[in-house]
Amino acid sequence: MTVDIDRFIELLSEEVKTYNVPVVDLIAVQTEEPFKILVATILSARTKDETTAKATSKLFKKARNIKELALLTEQEITKLIYPVGFYKNKARFLKQLPSVLKEKFNNEIPTEVEPLTKLPGVGRKTANLVVSVAFNKPAICVDTHVHRIMNIWGYVKTKTPLETEMALRKKLPEKYWIRINSLLVAFGQGTCKPLAPHCDRCILTADCPKIGVTPRRLPNKTKKKQSQNMQRFISWNVNGLRAVEKKGFTDIVRDLDADIIALQEIKAHPDQLSTALKEINGYHSYWNPAVRKGYAGVAVYSRKPPLNVINGIGTEEYDQEGRVLTLEFADFYFINVYFPNAQHGLTRMDYKLDFNRQFLAFVNDLAQDKSVVICGDYNVAHKPVDLKNPKTNEKNPGYTAEERAWMDEFIGNGYIDTFRKFNKDPDNYTWWSYRFNARARNIGWRIDYFCVDRKSEKRVRNAEILNEIEGSDHCPVSLEFE
Ligand code: SF4
Repeated sequence: MTVDIDRFIELLSEEVKTYNVPVVDLIAVQTEEPFKILVATILSARTKDETTAKATSKLFKKARNIKELALLTEQEITKLIYPVGFYKNKARFLKQLPSVLKEKFNNEIPTEVEPLTKLPGVGRKTANLVVSVAFNKPAICVDTHVHRIMNIWGYVKTKTPLETEMALRKKLPEKYWIRINSLLVAFGQGTCKPLAPHCDRCILTADCPKIGVTPRRLPNKTKKKQSQNMQRFISWNVNGLRAVEKKGFTDIVRDLDADIIALQEIKAHPDQLSTALKEINGYHSYWNPAVRKGYAGVAVYSRKPPLNVINGIGTEEYDQEGRVLTLEFADFYFINVYFPNAQHGLTRMDYKLDFNRQFLAFVNDLAQDKSVVICGDYNVAHKPVDLKNPKTNEKNPGYTAEERAWMDEFIGNGYIDTFRKFNKDPDNYTWWSYRFNARARNIGWRIDYFCVDRKSEKRVRNAEILNEIEGSDHCPVSLEFE
C-alpha cells in the first residue's frame, strides 16, 4: 500500500490548523531574528513547549542579541533557562555560542545545515530546523515525530532519523520540505501520538497502513450494560486539579463515564475551585484537601451518594496532609489514597513507612466488615517489571528495598493488585517524568494501583491502565467491579 503523500499533506494541513503550534514556529511567527530562532531551537530539545516558551521569554528579556548573550555568565543563563531539559548543558552551549560565532562565522549565524552543526549544542535536527524556519530555505528537519510517522505510513523504511532525512531528500517533493516538520510535530503531539495513536479519530485512518502501530483502546462503555451491577471506577493522580481543568478535565470525566472517580494530588481546597469542578453533572463530590494550600489532597466524585464518608486514617500527623478519603457503600468501602513520597535523599522515608503501617491497619480493620477497594498513587513500583530501569533506581524513592518490602507485606496481608491479574507484561506504566521526553519514550513507572481484598477478587471483572489520557504526569487506571 503506497500512501498518496499529496493528499495526506493536504488533509493534515487543514486538520492541524486547530492544534497547538510547535514552539519554534510560534517564535518564528513572533520574530524573524535568526538569533532568537536558533536559541529557541536549542532550548526546545527534549523539553515541553510550554517550558521552552517560558524560558525563551525570560532569556530574551536579558539577551536580545548575541552581544547581550555574551555579557551573561553561565550561572545567569542557567538560572534564566531552568527548568528546560538538560539546562546545565544548554547553558554551557549558550555561553560558548557568541565566541564560536565570532571566531568561525564573523558573528553571523550560518544559513546552511553543515556549518550550523559546528555550533555548540546544534545537531542535524536543530540545524535543519533553523535553516527552514529562520532562513526559509529548503531543509528537512527530521525529529522523532517525522521519523516515526513517515515509517508508520510506509513512505520510508528507515531505522534512524538521519536515514529518514536522507530518504526524504530523495523522495519528498521539495515544496513540502519546510513545513513537513511543524505539520507532523503538531499531528504527532495531537493525534498520531507515540504511545497509542488516536486512530479512532484520525482523518487518515481509512488510508493509513498503520505499520507497527497499536492504536489506543477506548474505555469499553458497552461492557457495563452486560450487567446491572457492573461498576467502573477510575483513579487518577491529576498533579493539580486546577491545572488539569485547563487540559480538558471535565470532557475527560464525561468520556470516561465512570461510576466513581478518585483523584489524588488535587493541590487545592474546594473554595479555590471553579463551579464546573465542584459540581460535575451527575456526580456527588467529596473532598479531603491538605491543610497546607497547594499541596497533596484527595477527592472523589461518585454517581451514588455513599452511606458514610471517612476523612483520613485517624492520625493527625497524616490526616492534615489530605492523604486518604473513604466512601462507605452498602457492600464495599472505596478507599482513595495518596501515599507520601520518600523524597530525594529519602528524607521522608520514616514518615512514609510509618504512614504505610498505619494505613494497612486502617484497611485491615475495614476489610473485616465488607469488601475494600483501595485505589490511588501508592508511590512505589512493586516489582522490576513495574518500571523501565529497575537496576538504576534501586536506591531512589519509589523503588527502595524498604518501600517494596512494605508492598510485599501489603500483598501478603491478602490484597490483590488487580492490574496484574489480567496483564503480566512489561512496559505498562502509569507515571512518567516530565523530563527527558520520558512519556513519548515510555520510560515510566507503574505506581498507581487498584487493589481489592482477597475475598472480593471474584468481583473484579477487569483492570486497565488508560495511558492514552493526558493532562498529568500520571495517567488514570481503571477497575470494573461487580
Ligand atoms: S491512522 Fe493512526 S497511525 Fe495512521 S496517521 Fe492516523 S493516528 Fe497515526
